[in-house]
Amino acid sequence: MTSHKLTLPEPVIRDRQFIKPLMCGPGPCDVWPSVAEALTRPVISPICDEYFNVMDDIRAGIQYLFQTRSPLVLAISGSGHTGMETIISNLLAPGELLLVPNRSIWDERATKMASRYGIKVETIFTSVPFTTFSLEEIESALKKHRPAGMFITHGDSSTGTIQNLEGLGKLCHKYGTLLLVDTVVSLGAVPFFMDEWGVDGVYTSGQKALSGPAGISPVAFSARAEAKINNRKHEPPFYFDMKLLAQQWNCYDKIRVYHHTLSPPLVWALRRCLEEVISETLPKSWARHAAVTARLYKRLQEYGFQFLIKKPEDRLVTVTTIALPRGYDYKQFVDHMRAKHNIMIMAGLGPTVGKALRIGIMGVNSTMEVADRVGDAMAETMRALTKSSL
Ligand SMILES: *Cc1c(COP(=O)(O)O)cnc(C)c1O
Repeated sequence: MTSHKLTLPEPVIRDRQFIKPLMCGPGPCDVWPSVAEALTRPVISPICDEYFNVMDDIRAGIQYLFQTRSPLVLAISGSGHTGMETIISNLLAPGELLLVPNRSIWDERATKMASRYGIKVETIFTSVPFTTFSLEEIESALKKHRPAGMFITHGDSSTGTIQNLEGLGKLCHKYGTLLLVDTVVSLGAVPFFMDEWGVDGVYTSGQKALSGPAGISPVAFSARAEAKINNRKHEPPFYFDMKLLAQQWNCYDKIRVYHHTLSPPLVWALRRCLEEVISETLPKSWARHAAVTARLYKRLQEYGFQFLIKKPEDRLVTVTTIALPRGYDYKQFVDHMRAKHNIMIMAGLGPTVGKALRIGIMGVNSTMEVADRVGDAMAETMRALTKSSL
C-alpha cells in the first residue's frame, strides 16, 4: 500500500477582514452595485444558449463603447495587459516594425511585449516631459520609419496625460501603418470614436472607468486589421488568436467553437458594466466625468496643490497627477490618506516615481461627493504632514 503521509503540513489560511476603502487611485476603481450583484450569479456552462445570448449582448455593448460597426469585437479573458498582447501579437508579424511614441510605462510595456514576439520597435519621445505628441512629430516618425503598426496610449495613468487621437488614423494609413491604441483608463470617461478616428486595433479593461472587475478586457479590430489577420503568415499565441476567438464569440454569425472556458462571473459582470454605460449613454458619462474632475481641480487649486501636467488640454480626466511641494514624502502622503480617511490614492509610477500623487476618480466614483471628499482629505493630509514635519 502506498503511504499517504503528507510532505507539507496544512498552512494557516484565515478569513482576513478589512474595511473597504474608497478606491481613488488610477485603478482598480470601485464596482457598480449592479456589478457586485452580477458577480454572485450562478455559474453555468459557457456552451449553452443562456451564455451565448450574453456573449451577443456583450459584443453589441462593446461596439457601442468603442463606437465601431466592426464585427471583430469581443472580450479577452484577462486584465488590460492581455488586450495589449492580443492586438500586438495578432497585428504584427515577427520582423515587422512597430513605432511606439513613448509617454510612459504602458508604451514601455508594449515595446517589451513586441520585442518578445520578434517584432522590431522604434521609439520616439516627447520633446518636453509630461506632455503629449503633436501630429507633426508623429508624421515625421511615420515618414522616416514606414512601420507596419504604431502603438499609442490614449489615457496614460502613470503621467495623467491624454493623447489627442483625432487625425492619427488618417496619418497612419497614409504610410501603410495600422493604428493600435490603449484605452484602458480612458474608455467610457472621455470621447473615443474608433471608426471615425481610423483606429485599427484597440483594447480596454474592466476595472477602470467601466467600474467592473479586472480579468475581462474588451478588444476591437477594424476591417483593415481583419484583412491583415486573415492574410497573415505568423501564428500568435493560441490563447490570444483572434481567428479562434472570433469563432468562440460568433463574430461572423456562423459557428460557436469552444476555445477556452470564459469565467461566468466576469462575463455577467462585464454585461452589467455595459448596461450601466448604455443606460446612462456615453455623452452623459463623458459629461459627468468632465464636470466631476473640474470640481476636483477647483478644490485642489483652492488648497494650493500643483498639477504635474501643466497644459490643461493634456490632462487626463480620470487620473490627476499632483506634484507635492519639496520636502513632502509621497509614500507618507498616500499612507496618511488611507489611515486617516480610508481613501486609496497612489504614488507615482515609472517616470512619475517621487514626482507625483495619482488620484483617480472614474466610473461609479465619478460624483461630486467623491470629488469633495477627496479634496478635503488631501487638504487635511497636507496640514497634518506639515505639522508632523515641524
Ligand atoms: C491599468 C492600465 C493598464 C494595465 O491594465 P491591467 O488591467 O492592470 O492589466 C494598461 N494601460 C493603462 C493606460 C492602464 O491605466
